[in-house]
Formats: sequence, structure tokens, C-alpha cells
Amino acid sequence: MSGIFPPVRIFLVISPPPCYPWLMEKYDLLRSRRKTLALEITRDCRVLVRAPMKCSARRIDEFVEAHQAWIAEKLALQRQRAAQRPPEPTAEEISALKQKAREILPGKVEYWSRVTGLTPTGLKVTAARTRYGSCSGKNSLCFSCFLMDKPEAAIDLVVVHELCHIQVKNHGPGFYALLGRYLPDHREREKLLKQR
Ligand SMILES: [Zn+2]
Repeated sequence: MSGIFPPVRIFLVISPPPCYPWLMEKYDLLRSRRKTLALEITRDCRVLVRAPMKCSARRIDEFVEAHQAWIAEKLALQRQRAAQRPPEPTAEEISALKQKAREILPGKVEYWSRVTGLTPTGLKVTAARTRYGSCSGKNSLCFSCFLMDKPEAAIDLVVVHELCHIQVKNHGPGFYALLGRYLPDHREREKLLKQR
């Protein structure tokens, strides 16, 4: 066998510089039936990208890349906030607070129901972090177990506040007139509620 073989070409394969992986923050992707891309820095300091169902991975990467400065700034701020926050309550702590709420709140709701003449259709305890209480359209009351960390005067305020919503569903002057009838010092109690 003879012949001239074509020269062997040796390629040096250089992959494109992986500039993204170390420049770009890792992010979580949440696809939904939305139309636009959006960025969010979560409370636990993750980068969350909300994207339409069919948006390409490349477009999402480009979007994140284009917002690097914003992400870095907001992430630093969120990490600073997280470091200043007291540690998240454990499952055991939440369950103890819920138990305490279930022991304390029914008696308080009953007492203030008698005083105000406003009776709820139900009573529920949750681990909500955004609000201490709520009153449904059907007049069922909901209380966060984290209310148990507050002084008694503040707990009573939230109970009476939610009971008053049975009669007035907004926070207008009529609502505060009603609340003030039962708790003339409700402004001071509100301050107690906001204290850490
Ligand atoms: Zn309210």
C-alpha cells in the first residue's frame, strides 16, 4: 500500500472562554405564563429569574448578564440585611409558638367577642410572617403564631382589630372609631406591636 496521505492536521481545540460561570451569579429559574423576564433577590439571598415558558436559556443568561451590576448591588444589600436579622425560627420554635397561640387566643377572642358583640365564624393559627392577623370575607379570623412573641397589650390589639373587621372591612375612619371605642390606647399598642 502506497500513496501520499494528506497531511495530518492537528487541531488545538480551544473552547470559548467560559466567561459566564464565574462572572454570573448562580440563579434559580421560575418559568410561568408571564410575558417578560424579571429579576428578584429573595429574602434568603438567592437570585431568582422569572421567565416566560418558552424563553431560551441563552436569552435568560444574557438578561442576567446585562443586570450584573444591579444583582451585585441588591445581593450585597440583602446579605447585609440577612446578617442583621435574628436567626430564622426553627420548626420546634414555630410549633411551640403555635401551641401557645392555640392555648391563649380562643379565650381572648371569646372575651373580646363578648365586649364588642362581634362574633367570628372561625379561628385559625398560622405561621404567617407578613401579618399578625386577618379577617376573611366570611368573618373567619386568622392569627400568626409570631404574635405570641409580643406583649399582651399588643396581642389584644390584634384580636380586637380583627374582630372590628367583622363590622368594617377597611381601615377608614369608621374602622378606627370602632377600634378606639374598645381600645382608646390603640396607637400606643401599635407601637408595642412594632417593637422587636
Ligand atoms: Zn386590618
